[in-house]
Amino acid sequence: MNNETQAATRAAIYIRVSTDRQAERGYSISEQETKLKAMCTAQGLKVYKVYCDDGYTGSNMERPALKKLLKDVWEGKIKSVVIYKLDRLSRDIQDLLEIIRRIFMPSKTRLISLTESIDTCTPGGRAALNVLATFAELEKDTINERMEMGRIGYVKSGKWFGKVPFGYDRNKEGNLVLNADAIKVRQVFDMYLHGKGLKEIAETLKLTSSESVNSILKSKASHGFVQYRGEYFQGIHEPIISKETYDIAAELRARQKFMQKGSAPSPYVLVGLLYCGKCGSKMAYVKQEHYTKIVCHSTRKSRPHLIVDPNCKNPRLRAVNVEETVLEKLFNRVDGIKDSWSESDTEEKRIALRSRIEKIIVTDGDIDIHWHQGH
Ligand SMILES: [Zn+2]
Repeated sequence: MNNETQAATRAAIYIRVSTDRQAERGYSISEQETKLKAMCTAQGLKVYKVYCDDGYTGSNMERPALKKLLKDVWEGKIKSVVIYKLDRLSRDIQDLLEIIRRIFMPSKTRLISLTESIDTCTPGGRAALNVLATFAELEKDTINERMEMGRIGYVKSGKWFGKVPFGYDRNKEGNLVLNADAIKVRQVFDMYLHGKGLKEIAETLKLTSSESVNSILKSKASHGFVQYRGEYFQGIHEPIISKETYDIAAELRARQKFMQKGSAPSPYVLVGLLYCGKCGSKMAYVKQEHYTKIVCHSTRKSRPHLIVDPNCKNPRLRAVNVEETVLEKLFNRVDGIKDSWSESDTEEKRIALRSRIEKIIVTDGDIDIHWHQGH
């Protein structure tokens, strides 16, 4: 046998055991080693080295012997790697395929699994590997699907899934039961239908914020519904308010939202882009009694380090007007952006503006937009 064929038969054995219990089930280090050595002999392979990770799980890829093995494979020291089962290398099929693709294939190293008749050197073995990978994926999908079906079934039977809504607790059987806050839910609706604002309701009922009042008004749990991924089903829990009350409040919310649109500035979407054309300082959104305004930092005392010219006379502008002008120019410039604008949230709007606008210079009511190149 010449040197080259000797090198070609050089094989490594890789063994992994995670726990003592595996050793009891015929996976012990010595049993794996004996069987793998016998296979090497049968295939005419010379055992170069035995790599062994004792006490590591197959999902942990930070295993010392595995690392050493992959390094040796990569450096071309070994031509075949023999394992008892594919999951000895990795429990995650994606990690396994990654190792094979990135390390075994480029170095033309065979991977041979004793129990799965996989040999990456033969077309049949490679096909078997692909089939195995497909089944592993399929299994994962099936488990997810089964869990999903389980959840849908659960919710369709009227039970609540997920975070327990305000006004309820979950009992031992997993069902929603009214708690002491239920009375507050009723009060929220009562006050809202009597024209009280969200903030006032929050303060009176000692709720954390007007946002939490809003979510109480929005939740369909309080009139007996359960929901899953935006679909609603009749729940089996006791409602706090009637469907009529909920519907009237919903209508009121819709009307108020409609009336606010266009008159309220979207929350500070131009923040960070605004500069004063008179002194060069940054400009800020400042909430005043009736309107939110855009103000040169030089004219404010709160951020002394941003003052450029304490005598700056750049007038304050209503934020709504500045935003309107900027948006008009943006809509004219970028096709199609207008249609989706009202659906976008604040963060999306900020990103859309920032990716196109370098800065906005405001001088005596004039608004000069500096666009990024290419926009
Ligand atoms: Zn200024």
